[in-house]
Amino acid sequence: MAIKLPIYMDYHATTPVDPRVVETMVPYFTEQFGNAASRNHPFGWAAEDAVEQARKHVSDLIGAGAKEIVFTSGATESNNLAIKGVAEMYREKGRHIITAVTEHKAVIDTCKRLEKEDCRVTYLPVQKDGRISLDDLRNAISDRTILISIMTANNEIGVLQPIAEIGAIAKEKGILFHTDAVQAVGKVPFNVNDLKVDLVSLTAHKMYGPKGVGALYVRRRNPRVLLAPQIDGGGHERGMRSGTLNVPGIVGMGKAAALCKAEMTQDAARLGALRDRLNERLHKGLDEIYVNGSMEHRLPHSLNVSFAYVEGESLLMGINDVAVSSGSACTSASLEPSYVLKALGAGDDLAHSSIRFGLGRWTTQEEVDYVADKLITVVTRLREMSPLYELAKEGVDLSTMQWQVH
Ligand SMILES: *Cc1c(COP(=O)(O)O)cnc(C)c1O
Repeated sequence: MAIKLPIYMDYHATTPVDPRVVETMVPYFTEQFGNAASRNHPFGWAAEDAVEQARKHVSDLIGAGAKEIVFTSGATESNNLAIKGVAEMYREKGRHIITAVTEHKAVIDTCKRLEKEDCRVTYLPVQKDGRISLDDLRNAISDRTILISIMTANNEIGVLQPIAEIGAIAKEKGILFHTDAVQAVGKVPFNVNDLKVDLVSLTAHKMYGPKGVGALYVRRRNPRVLLAPQIDGGGHERGMRSGTLNVPGIVGMGKAAALCKAEMTQDAARLGALRDRLNERLHKGLDEIYVNGSMEHRLPHSLNVSFAYVEGESLLMGINDVAVSSGSACTSASLEPSYVLKALGAGDDLAHSSIRFGLGRWTTQEEVDYVADKLITVVTRLREMSPLYELAKEGVDLSTMQWQVH
């Protein structure tokens, strides 16, 4: 069978909506169009019932109670609500927050804003494998620390942080612990009580649900977490997030969560095998390639590889029938290479020539083989034109070479 191009291998950026999710959502645009806040007629009741069922599905996926789920517009909002909401509510307790340099911008930029106010923020470095050091974390904690925010899995490299260990430290010190779990929930097991997390950010569009809907888990017992709302209005979502609920979106997120719960184990096993196949093929076909981040503590569907001695832009152009992301920022607004890869210690060149592969529910073995073959061909061709690669192969140490500038 002919392979369908382009191939989508960027599931960390977003996922298609599962057709079973779409099907569940459709009636909530038309017949069941009620406002979930309309308390006095059947249209409102039906919408409210649907929202409550979705809340149950989302909470079940993470081992939480339904009342601990606050629906939002996505994880950017959830991260803002968690961090700003705690900073404002626990103002008297302290003004110090701990996070990490490799967090998503929705966490980093939220912390930066709080620094402009009166908060102090510690940005923990990461080790070469992409994980924070628990000693660094312990050393950063003071009696003014009110929040630790460390993501469960990184969106660029797929590396999993030691969340249970961080949760234990946070609990021991009586500090609230927030995790941006967007990339992990629905893909790998995640339980709020086992991990001892207090706040968890989620988004539907990274787990086969629709865009523009997300959730924040807010612990209600041991301890009961209080948040200052960041959007004021009609007092929806127990006062934590006002605004008419996106009923079809929430229904979709609920269905997506239920499907993930049912299918996660088999999806992860299948995608883990395909990811390993991709990695092995690349390593067999090419030398001088480097996996970014821990291979052991990693999402099963995730791989990030730097291809030495090729230029990031040429590499991307060479594989233009494969949708992937690169650590080279020519794809985004700035020219800086990925701050995540740099935090792992990658030089600019290796950061620029890196590719993030994100496999997902509809990735096939044929696609994986196509992508591996294509990369081997393109990288080999680009290196044939690279004097640096030739010199390196001749055993010249490029780092000590004297360059003549004319
Ligand atoms: C995608 C992503 C977000 C942002 O989620 P939106 O719902 O798109 O706002 C936040 N954190 C991580 C780790 C992500 O991958």
